[in-house]
Formats: sequence, structure tokens, C-alpha cells
Amino acid sequence: MKKLPLHTKILLGMTIGLIFGMSAIQFSGVAAFTIDFIKPFGTIFIRSLKMVAVPLVLASLIVGVANIGDISKLSRMGGKTLGIFVATTVISITLGLTTVAILKPGEALPEETRQNLMSMYNENAGSKINVAAEVKTRGPLQPLVDMVPDNIFLASTDNGRMLQVVFFALLVGVALLQTPKEKGATVLSFFNGLNEVIIKIVQYIMMVAPYGVFALIAALIVEIAGDQPDKAWELLYALLWYAITVIIGMFIMMALVYPLLIKYFSKLGYLEFFKGIRPAMLLGFSTSSSTATLPVTMDRVEKKLGVSEEVASFVLPLGATINMNGTSLYQGVSAVFIAQAMGLDLSISQHLMIVLTATLAAVGTAGVPGAGLVMLVIVLEAAGIPAAGIALIMAPERILDMIRTMVNITGDASVSVVVAATEGTLKPADELDKAYE
Ligand code: ASP
Repeated sequence: MKKLPLHTKILLGMTIGLIFGMSAIQFSGVAAFTIDFIKPFGTIFIRSLKMVAVPLVLASLIVGVANIGDISKLSRMGGKTLGIFVATTVISITLGLTTVAILKPGEALPEETRQNLMSMYNENAGSKINVAAEVKTRGPLQPLVDMVPDNIFLASTDNGRMLQVVFFALLVGVALLQTPKEKGATVLSFFNGLNEVIIKIVQYIMMVAPYGVFALIAALIVEIAGDQPDKAWELLYALLWYAITVIIGMFIMMALVYPLLIKYFSKLGYLEFFKGIRPAMLLGFSTSSSTATLPVTMDRVEKKLGVSEEVASFVLPLGATINMNGTSLYQGVSAVFIAQAMGLDLSISQHLMIVLTATLAAVGTAGVPGAGLVMLVIVLEAAGIPAAGIALIMAPERILDMIRTMVNITGDASVSVVVAATEGTLKPADELDKAYE
């Protein structure tokens, strides 16, 4: 077991978790045991990942920015990063819209199934719509206001306010850049040290990752089986075509868009990229959270792909909070699917509205499980599609969340490679630490 590479161990953990969960649901005693005695270890695992997210972002971003050397380089890197974020987001939504227009999964949904889905998930959909309504009552510039913390210590106690921590860390980094070296040295070396210590802790957490994902997957299966009545499985089947449409779109993103991007801008082979980032992708899948996976994404991108620390610590925390290609593709497909199922014909301007609002929604989506579904409500309303329609897509939500999180993470990692390569700070493969597992 010791000799196996990390991603194989994580995959094994997932597979055994799946088999265990499937067997557990056959016996109610074992299912209860799974929830009482196995699930907590999954929760502990996710908690420990989240525990290091804020200090890691704070320390690595401050050190990263301070080491960039000058402000003009920082603003060039910032502009480039945001530009690629917007470009990949628009590509992913357009891809989603194209796939759903070709496959038309909504038109295949029988009227009776549609009624059943609406009545079964209405209540659940209602609560998401309420959350979205709250988000919507805020003014148009509220996201900008939300980026600035009113108290950095408070902000750093809340993983949901990661963007505020990113904002503060950027500011400290910039200020350090402009402070005379001898005066800023202590602060810089403190954060440098903190950064190293946190990275060590991430490595400890990764050692137990295979067990963590086993517990997460086993508990997930038991829970899904618990709250899906028999009929729901039938309905889930009816939605298979929709789920496949989302998955095909995401697959094209992973198999075509990112490889082309990486090939065009860097010398890194896509296979090497994929191999390096694999454990982070698997964790994204198991946790459904880009924020929880962030420490691991940063670790892999630096150690296995050779992205410089200054780029990784700048691009990835930002990416985990504002760049969500999987989520925006999912939102594009889902909006059109709902419209198709309800027999609505969308105009060109409604399609454009979807592209625009889904791009903005990606920025507003937190890197936590289920956030993309809440933001979808806003996309639907902007495009004039009834928000209650989300009841139609609730059944496969969890599995699609897992997959889109994986794509979100792969997107962030690809952008970090492109930025590092164009900045001339991507280490060549032969300079990487081969022994690092
Ligand atoms: N779970 C996703 C993430 O963390 C966000 C979403 O719900 O789409 O990246």
C-alpha cells in the first residue's frame, strides 16, 4: 500500500467507499453505523482542509506578491489572469449552450415526468429561490463592496469571506513591496515561515486523504439513498440525458479546451499536467468544494507542474473564488434545459443574457458545495425563465456538483500554468522534484 502513488490510493479510497456505501444501504444497521461512525471522519477530513485554507491564502499570497518585485509586473500579471479567467468562462458557457442546443435533452422529457419532478422537488427548489432572492435584493455594486472586509480578523474567521482575505493579502503584499527592505524584512520572513509550516500541514492531511475520501463517499451514498424515494430513481433516469449533456460539455473542456490552452502557451505536456494535478481533481470530486481543495491544488501546481510560487499563490486563491468554468457551463446547459422542458423558445438576446449573467454568477459563486445551483436561479430570472424550474434538475445535482468542481479546479490550474509560462516562471519538467509524491 505504501508504494502506491497518491492518486491511486485516493481512487482506491473512493472505490472502496462506493462499494461499502452500496452494500451499507442494503442493511439499515450498517447504514446507521456509516452515518454515526464513518461519516465523522469524512467531516474531519474536510474540516482540516478548510482549516488551513485561510492561513495558507494569507501567507502565500503576501509572500507571493512581495516577491514579485515591482508593481508593474504585478498589474501585468493581474490583468492577464483576469483576462484569461473571463475568456475561459465565456468559452465554457458558450460550449454549454452549444451542447444543449445540439442534444436538446429538455425536449425528450415526457410531460408526466416533468409534472412529477416539479411536485417532488418544489419545496426544495423554493428554499434555493429564497436564498437567491436575498442575493438579488442587494444593489448592483454589492459584490464590489463585499470584497472589502470591514474587519480583517473577522473576515479571516469565515471561509465564505475568502475573497476579502485575498483582498487584504494583496494589499499587504503590495505595501510590503513598497516598504524599505530592512523595515519589512521581519514581516516578510514571518509570513514566509508561516507559509512553509502550513504547506507541511497540507502534506500531513494528504497522507490521510485516501481514508478521508472513503468516508466521504460511503456516507454520501448512504445519504443519497436515504432521501431519494424509489420514484426518484426513475426520475433520475429520465434526467440522464440532461446529465450526460452537462458531462459531455465538461469533458470537451477538459479534453480539448485546457489542453489547447496549455499546449499553445507552455511546453508542459497535457499528460504531465493531468498526472500532476490528478490528486487535486479527485479531491475536488470528493469534497465538491474548490475552497477546501485549494491547499492541495496549490501544493500540486507548484511541486508537480513547476508553477512558480508567486504565480500559484496569486492565481489559485483568486481562481477558487471567481473562476468557475464547470459551474458556468452547468448553468448554461441547465438554463436552456429548463426552458426546453417548459416549452419556451429562447431568443438570441435571452441566450446573451445567459452568457452575461452566468459569467457574473461565476464570480459570485462561492467555492462550496451547491453554490452553483443557487446562482443558477439568478441566471434564470435574468433570462426570463421561471426559477421554479430548478425543481427539474434537483435529482442529479449532487453528482453534477462533484464533476463541475473538478472542472473548476482543473481550469484554475490550467490558468496558473499559462500565466507562469507567459511570465517565464514555469520550471521545466527536469528541474522538478521527481521524488515528490
Ligand atoms: N461546488 C462548486 C465549487 O466549489 C461550486 C458550485 O456549486 O458550482 O467549485
